Amino acid sequence: MAGETVELMADSEPGAGDFPVADCGDCSRVVLVHLWMADDGEESHRCIHCDTVLADVRWVGEGELGEHGYAEITQDAGCGRPDCGRGRCGSG
Ligand SMILES: [Zn+2]
Repeated sequence: MAGETVELMADSEPGAGDFPVADCGDCSRVVLVHLWMADDGEESHRCIHCDTVLADVRWVGEGELGEHGYAEITQDAGCGRPDCGRGRCGSG
């Protein structure tokens, strides 16, 4: 397993924001994405709501994230979802 893959979820671009979001066609809104790693190490970003693969990910700060309806998430780093443990929340 490659350790460097986790860098995508870190603040690799200072100033760009701490949260990855993308436009999800299925959800018809801007959604938070989570990093999905397949068994072969292939990475993809997926909608946290419907798991659609989203390619055009951008990083936003807490302010913009709140505008998209995720204000409560910015107050708590953990999202509570079972799939959040896939490299996102780090523990376990
Ligand atoms: Zn979605």
